[in-house]
Amino acid sequence: MQLNYIANASVPSDSGRTIPVIDPSDGQPFDEIQRGNAQDIDRAVAAARQCLDTVWSRLSAAERGRLLMRLSAKVADHVDELAAIEQRDCGKPVKQARADALALVRYFEFYAGACDKLHGETLPYQDGYSVMTWREPHGVTGHVIPWNYPMQIFGRSVGGALAAGNVCVVKPSEDACLSLLRVAQLAAEAGFPAGAINIVTGYGHEVGDALARHEGIDHISFTGSPSVGTIIQQVAAERHCPVTLELGGKSPQIVFADADLDAAVPVIINAIVQNGGQTCSAGSRVLIERSIYEPLLERLAAAFENLRVGPAAMDLDVGPLIRASQQQRVWDFLSDAQVAGIPMMAQGRIVDEAPESGYYQAPTLLRDVPVGHRLAQEEVFGPVLSAMAFQNEDEAVALANATRFGLVAGVWTRDGSRQFRIAKRVHSGQVFINNYGAGGGVELPFGGVKSSGYGREKGFEALYGFTTLKTVAFRHG
Ligand code: NAD
Repeated sequence: MQLNYIANASVPSDSGRTIPVIDPSDGQPFDEIQRGNAQDIDRAVAAARQCLDTVWSRLSAAERGRLLMRLSAKVADHVDELAAIEQRDCGKPVKQARADALALVRYFEFYAGACDKLHGETLPYQDGYSVMTWREPHGVTGHVIPWNYPMQIFGRSVGGALAAGNVCVVKPSEDACLSLLRVAQLAAEAGFPAGAINIVTGYGHEVGDALARHEGIDHISFTGSPSVGTIIQQVAAERHCPVTLELGGKSPQIVFADADLDAAVPVIINAIVQNGGQTCSAGSRVLIERSIYEPLLERLAAAFENLRVGPAAMDLDVGPLIRASQQQRVWDFLSDAQVAGIPMMAQGRIVDEAPESGYYQAPTLLRDVPVGHRLAQEEVFGPVLSAMAFQNEDEAVALANATRFGLVAGVWTRDGSRQFRIAKRVHSGQVFINNYGAGGGVELPFGGVKSSGYGREKGFEALYGFTTLKTVAFRHG
């Protein structure tokens, strides 16, 4: 049984209750986590505050950096173990689980190096004054994390917060806690003081809500669905607590007739099937210039038909979805498509070895999806790609921007002027030209516009969000 991790100790929840942990590959329970409550959050916040006041705030930036570097090395030594945990807990194929653990190594390494490079400025002002700005940590930061990339999102959010001088209370998703509980133990082994990283597991409406409401939390970093993002924002507004929201997307991959299709096709496929499409930045809409619509769809269809889905341990192209309700959500989208007469162009195949009790979904390519249909507007969060045709550049941009989201966009064209024009006109936090996702890009600021959220994580930019700026003016005559 898994316990909460508070002040460098594994402790049971005050509730005395647990939640089963299900393996998505076979739908069977294999462990239990604590069903935390508000008292557990109280305890974690108190431990964090004590650490901040007595130890953490007294460390130099270089000392914080050394600790993060040691944690990066610890995680590197445990990549196989962490990947195996994640594979079972989240149903991630081995390759994906390892990639997540390696990204965690890299996040801690990046933020270790960034600690002592974050500084304020001196400002020109009137004669007789000297004015400077100091970057100060918020204090105790709360981190609400989803189930799709627990290690990566922990790395970018907790790594950035610690680097900026904060201490952290983390609420992982009830569907994916195990790897993070292990990482917290590794942090203690790496020398992190008790209370710097605390983890309380449980349901969002219980532990997550208690975290967001807690007076002792000075900043909330939320990654998850737009609907819960709204709740967090409202709850935090009651006490004017700053919030970073990393929400969903309906990201377009725009393909012009002059694109290098040999390069584009595998990237377009990967952008929607990686992690079973359960990726906030999944490229879930492919917008294709009319003159190459049919030939490109034929190529995409052939690639979809080759995709294989099965248990995480088989390490195929796609593993199971996270849980039964997510599988049902994808089925509902597909049955809506059928009712609307949206043609299904191709599907991958679920292998015979996949247990019926697992949460499998074959990757699906839909064509001629009307712009107003929910398949062109809402996050499916499964391996479903919606294809649409456009006539010209203006129409491509209009289609790309025709959702409430704005997280990531991909553009495929050899025309350099057009690359710039589209990058400027597309509403999104990141734009990738002739690539998608840039291989993860720990260094690259990430976040959305519109309903994809606000604030940026990843890269150096995240450190500005995890600090507050104090202006200090000296009058010396
Ligand atoms: P979710 O919003 O259901 O849950 C996210 C987290 O919030 C979980 O830990 C959950 O327990 C918690 N939560 C739920 N209700 C809460 C409440 N009332 N108060 C406080 N916390 C609460 O999202 P999910 O299903 O875990 O993840 C999928 C969503 O996350 C998708 O919409 C996806 O696009 C988004 N996401 C965004 C990014 C990004 O960086 N933009 C990254 C990954 C996932």
